[in-house]
Amino acid sequence: MRVPVATKSHQYEVVLGHQFLTEAVEAFADKLQKADKLFVFTDVNVWAAQGEYFKANFPYHFEVFILPGGEACKTFDQYNAAQTFLLEQKCSRKSFIFAFGGGAVGDLTGFVAATYMRGIPFIQIPTTILAHDSAVGGKTAINHPLGKNMIGAFYQPEGVIYDTALLESLSEREVRSGTAELIKHAMISDPNWLEELMTGDSVIHFNQNELAKQLKKGIEVKAQIVAEDETEQSVRKFLNLGHTYGHAIEAAAGYGKVAHGEAVMIGLVYCLLLSERYGEIDRTFTQSFLQFAIKNGYPFKAVSDYSFEQLSSYLMKDKKAEYGILQFVLLEKIGKPFVKAIDLEECQEIDAEYRQLLA
Ligand code: NAD
Ligand code: ZN
Repeated sequence: MRVPVATKSHQYEVVLGHQFLTEAVEAFADKLQKADKLFVFTDVNVWAAQGEYFKANFPYHFEVFILPGGEACKTFDQYNAAQTFLLEQKCSRKSFIFAFGGGAVGDLTGFVAATYMRGIPFIQIPTTILAHDSAVGGKTAINHPLGKNMIGAFYQPEGVIYDTALLESLSEREVRSGTAELIKHAMISDPNWLEELMTGDSVIHFNQNELAKQLKKGIEVKAQIVAEDETEQSVRKFLNLGHTYGHAIEAAAGYGKVAHGEAVMIGLVYCLLLSERYGEIDRTFTQSFLQFAIKNGYPFKAVSDYSFEQLSSYLMKDKKAEYGILQFVLLEKIGKPFVKAIDLEECQEIDAEYRQLLA
């Protein structure tokens, strides 16, 4: 399966398949044969779980750079170490980097590729469900101690190779986390798709074929949005549905404690509650969505673990917050997102409603 991504700065494809790494990499043979060196960036967990598969199926010689697992790789220290590694290895503008990992490895590698010698080509080989979102669209970043994803660039990959065989070693928690971004894509694009997801037994136990079909849909939504708005001037903002409150939960917990997608799911329910005030979403729907999320094991306990005061300090650090006003993505109805300025007082009212609903 193929999904074209046509952004203003660069056109490429996401290719989706099962156990097709060799063939998918060979599709880049022209470019790779001209490259002087190939580098593979990965993290320690991904390499432990999927390194053998990678080595057995990657048809070229490469040098590997192994990062700490998960969010710990998106730091200035790791960014610095990666640049030093590339310089020592005599990486040139004719070299290629592969990002082999989840969203964290993809974000760090993309930012390294964007800035090393003012930009060298890179290819994403995502290994998580969440990365159907993060590997597409060219947002790359590392974290600053004062905020997540604060230092970064828009930089598109040469291509995205999505081999679903790599997803088999994911923990249930990571499956749950990634599936939240899939649900987000359904919520901003298609009520029928969301209904289909909500009526099945479980969204985190899809079989192989079903998962590939769902991922393709998610990638199509993302590709269409970034084609229209690469640098988040308009519709790309819709992809932040659930992320404002979600990021606050994620930050309050300490990165990695609540997985990104788990926090996004908590944020999606918050957005439904807020949307009730401005559109057609009603409490019955919000409650059924919450039940669906609880049934699938999303950790709503995290809400009561922090006070609104704790969360609000993180809310105000959102990139889109100015003068005590936050920019929330809300839903007029499922499939119809819009952006609305909300002040902190109203955020607190919704937060209180949320706590009551969960009590
Ligand atoms: P992740 O990359 O941190 O991976 C989650 C955990 O699973 C890590 O411990 C990792 O080592 C492990 N792992 C990954 N693949 C594995 C596999 N196949 N088998 C076994 N273990 C595996 O997390 P993620 O959820 O993929 O991505 C989250 C990150 O993505 C966050 O930093 C978030 O900010 C970023 N993100 C970026 C964008 C974007 O547009 N650039 C969009 C959404 C999220
Ligand atoms: Zn996200």
